[in-house]
Amino acid sequence: MYDFLKKLGIKEVNSGASVGGEAGWLETGGEELISYSPIDGKAIASVKQANEKDYEKVVEAAQEAFIKWRLTPAPQRGLVVRDIGYELRRFKEPLGELVSLEMGKIKVEGMGEVQEMIDIADFAQGLSRQLYGLTMHSERPGHRMYEQWHPLGVLGLVTAFNFPVAVWSWNSLIAGVCGDTVLWKPSSKTPLTAVAIMNILAPVLDAHGLKGVFNLAIGKGSQVGEKMINDKRLPLISATGSCAMGRKVGQAVAARLGRSLLELGGNNAIIVTEDADLDMAIRATLFGAVGTAGQRCTSTRRIIVHNSVKDKFIGTLAKAYAQVPIGNPLEEGVLMGPLVDQKAVDDMMAALKRVKEGGGKIIYGGGLASVTGLEGGFYVEPTLVEAPKDLAVMRDETFAPILYIVGYDEFDQALELHNGVDQGLSSAVFTTSLKYSEAFLSHAGSDCGIANVNIGTSGAEIGGAFGGEKDTGGGRESGSDAWRAYMRRQTNTINYSSEMPLAQGISFDL
Ligand code: NAD
Repeated sequence: MYDFLKKLGIKEVNSGASVGGEAGWLETGGEELISYSPIDGKAIASVKQANEKDYEKVVEAAQEAFIKWRLTPAPQRGLVVRDIGYELRRFKEPLGELVSLEMGKIKVEGMGEVQEMIDIADFAQGLSRQLYGLTMHSERPGHRMYEQWHPLGVLGLVTAFNFPVAVWSWNSLIAGVCGDTVLWKPSSKTPLTAVAIMNILAPVLDAHGLKGVFNLAIGKGSQVGEKMINDKRLPLISATGSCAMGRKVGQAVAARLGRSLLELGGNNAIIVTEDADLDMAIRATLFGAVGTAGQRCTSTRRIIVHNSVKDKFIGTLAKAYAQVPIGNPLEEGVLMGPLVDQKAVDDMMAALKRVKEGGGKIIYGGGLASVTGLEGGFYVEPTLVEAPKDLAVMRDETFAPILYIVGYDEFDQALELHNGVDQGLSSAVFTTSLKYSEAFLSHAGSDCGIANVNIGTSGAEIGGAFGGEKDTGGGRESGSDAWRAYMRRQTNTINYSSEMPLAQGISFDL
């Protein structure tokens, strides 16, 4: 066993449910789930999942805790989150390594993900003193109107494998300062990172005497996940994952008139205009398309490049692709690790078959990559495809390092291609023209939740609201005023006069 697993309290067999704190782990009764590392395909450790009874215990604990937690002043809730941030700083390296081991991203990306959690903890603590509502001027004399934001209840949180810890923090730490308690179901591909987080949290929660505020129930999407989305005790379901999953979740939660916050798939493109700084565009493209082996929701999947610079762009990019070191993501110098599992490899190969059938041309890559000593791992070559405008597979999000390159002549045509997909998460234009830049950011420009100029599609600062439009689900998380999703708004009117004016001038005096 790796040393960092011990530091994080990972055992060979771990409980899959917790109501927070050292003593909060349940004796779970569900099936055992083995976590395999994509690095070598070998088992790391296992988790005994939550069964129905365990799920009930966790939901009840979260509900009970909410009754107290909602009355804890928000700045005091912020202090708990601050202490979680301190603890995350202490465990940044081992947790980053575990992310790398279990999910396959390179170690610096794993540590970067933990840094994002730390940043969110800082942000959320500040936010705990800024959960502002507006005041309004009443139309009636002697009346005052204002709105306030109340805690919502137990947040049901479903997360994807590719950001196994950061997405937990975006939701939980902000919902936490908002006064909600949290029930988390992580991806079944990354259960150990979830166990590690609960272990890191335990001393903080114990020191603050908290139980049931941050909870965990590990189980399949079709079991624990389905229970959550149909459970009226969870007024808000925040779900991150594929569009197919989001469609199911959105419909089930809407059917019970609950709220959902959906963060789904992307199909992110960069437009490179004829006057763009190509060096900058190439660097951003390489990072965006190859980083995390193309397994970010914001990964760059399409390049729409002006025909006058297309050949030069492709030639330079192909040279850069040939230099990407592929291998064990825990080793220094490696820039691309494996895909998460065999299914991800199969999905990539199936997409490349459709590329050929649809008239696309593979310019670089397209095959499996072998890494000596790690034959059981899921390594592929980063792949460049020259695509005709109507290539059907380009409209889908294949969660792998495939980059489609399409040429254009007129900027309007580039925008049409850009917006002509179902997803609407992240987007960028590389240009030195004010005209193109403003057109891209205008009402008639990019239809995505994130639109950048001269910076790529991949990743985002926590200070902004993160999320996308169309099939990406419309949710917003992290910075700006995304906190509002975790609270309920109440409009209050107070009459401090001795009159009782009725609405619409009606007189009810008998
Ligand atoms: P996935 O859809 O396979 O699974 C995501 C989560 O949903 C898992 O925890 C899974 O168990 C759960 N789930 C599946 N079916 C469910 C159901 N019926 N009810 C409740 N829960 C259910 O996604 P994945 O492969 O883990 O992640 C990759 C996808 O996530 C990509 O599409 C990526 O773009 C997207 N993603 C989006 C964002 C974003 O912020 N927009 C961030 C990260 C990942």
